[in-house]
Amino acid sequence: MKSFDLDSAIRKIPDFPHKGILFYDITGILTNPEAFAWCIDRMCEIYADRNIDSIACIEARGFVFAAPFAYRMGIPLVLVRKAGKLPGRIMKKEYSLEYGRATIEIQASDILPGQKVLVLDDLIATGGTLKAAVELIEEAGASVADIFGVIGLPFLNYHDVLKGYSITVLQEYY
Ligand code: IMP
Repeated sequence: MKSFDLDSAIRKIPDFPHKGILFYDITGILTNPEAFAWCIDRMCEIYADRNIDSIACIEARGFVFAAPFAYRMGIPLVLVRKAGKLPGRIMKKEYSLEYGRATIEIQASDILPGQKVLVLDDLIATGGTLKAAVELIEEAGASVADIFGVIGLPFLNYHDVLKGYSITVLQEYY
């Protein structure tokens, strides 16, 4: 597969959402069809032979990358949502944010025991959100085949938080 300068499609917004934070904005990928296609094609290439049974993705930007990937791979798409959005029997996990706490949920019947699940978000910062998702998937009896982020910020130590798991990112920033 041809290489692509993904960095050029990622907008960097200083002082968002707080002063001193550099925000990596993936909307520059979504508005660039070549960049978006490259991301999905690359994901399909990476996971072609990994026997992934399903993909679980984090609300909301994770959905955008996971949906075309699930369609291309012919695998189930599982939504990991913020609290209170999913109907029926749910499993939930509370986790720490920089300020305060948050809760994510999945529908219990979406993850089947023994499945190998790919867990995806648009960006991995501290890894706290994905760690909570990983715990939910394991509590449902499945295993995590890989953790994927379009962007990774390893200086925020997600490798420590997600220790022991295989992690793949398309673009790292230091
Ligand atoms: P973590 O739990 O600290 O790894 O934070 C990851 C979550 O925060 C993801 O759902 C991201 O969408 C969001 N996030 C954190 N920093 C950024 C950023 O610079 N750009 C876009 N999303 C971000």
